[in-house]
Amino acid sequence: MPAPTCASCGSARAALRRPRSGQALCGSCFCAAFEAEVLHTVLAGRLLPPGAVVAVGASGGKDSTVLAHVLRALAPRLDISLHLVAVDEGISGYRDAALAAVRRQAALWELPLTVVSYADLFGGWTMDAVARSTAGSGRSRSCCTFCGVLRRRALEEGARLVGATHIVTGHNADDMAETVLMNFLRGDAGRLARAGGLGSAGEGGALPRCRPLHLASQKEVVLYAHFRRLHYFSEECVYAPEAFRGHARDLLKLLEAARPSAVLDLVHSAERLALAPAAKPPRPGACSRCGALASRELCQACALLDGLNRGRPLLAIGKGRRGLREEPPACAPPAAAPTPAPAPPPPTTCAQQNDLRSRSVTCAYQTSIGM
Ligand code: SF4
Ligand code: ZN
Repeated sequence: MPAPTCASCGSARAALRRPRSGQALCGSCFCAAFEAEVLHTVLAGRLLPPGAVVAVGASGGKDSTVLAHVLRALAPRLDISLHLVAVDEGISGYRDAALAAVRRQAALWELPLTVVSYADLFGGWTMDAVARSTAGSGRSRSCCTFCGVLRRRALEEGARLVGATHIVTGHNADDMAETVLMNFLRGDAGRLARAGGLGSAGEGGALPRCRPLHLASQKEVVLYAHFRRLHYFSEECVYAPEAFRGHARDLLKLLEAARPSAVLDLVHSAERLALAPAAKPPRPGACSRCGALASRELCQACALLDGLNRGRPLLAIGKGRRGLREEPPACAPPAAAPTPAPAPPPPTTCAQQNDLRSRSVTCAYQTSIGM
């Protein structure tokens, strides 16, 4: 049976049915509709005011690639300027290749790029060093907990470095729905309330953050990259298989099979929770060590680094964090911990990086702390 004609232009052959609406569109009309929807999200939510200097969190993966491409197309209409900010977590065999993809994109799109690294920002700690420090503790899954907190801080530092007024990240609707499920499963009401909505307004001196793709499904993000012929990095982080997010993702797939609207339903549920007065998190204060936003004496990043520097990395996670106060002051210099060690095993490689069938997940945890 021949493909129907595009429901928008009426002339070209339809190349896809939109997952959400079932509308048959050609590739060109689909991309135009996708960009118009992102524009609407930004304008309706007043996310990026005219004149904003926007730091785009760039990982080289599909979401940040699509976000940077769409915002670059919309920048003249929005009257914003863009600066790519990439974070080098120090993950051998994974991040180097992803950063190479970001560098190619920056050169191709003529966008300025700044790379900040965990090692420089956090006293020599890389994710590989954190993984070695937590290995054998029975809590190796905590890698992504450390990484998520540190990355949020690193992106903030990078954005300030380039004089940005706003930060945008590429989280899509599926990422958001997974985060909602994870926070429910952990019983974390505060995070559930904070993670909903379009972003954060920049409380406590932090830069405002938003997620312009937060209503776009993962399928449509991949379709947009396909029809715009965008090249992105699609290998999975070596630590991703350990992440709790994988379970939330599997659960979401089951829910979506039974109820196709499950992803957006979860996203909207979180938005409503974020608006509910009773769900408002306690008014944040400032970290006594670095001055960043914190709901306790130390912000999450300082608490995690404190635990790492004491050789007690798990103290800073969950209930163990309470124990930090009883510990003697840190005496080991941070640089002592990240001793060189054999590189972790290479990540699973995908034979067809930019094929629609390729694994399109690069980082398993980006959103769970509202990065
Ligand atoms: Fe960091 Fe993402 Fe890798 Fe977890 S999966 S360690 S959050 S890059
Ligand atoms: Zn068309």
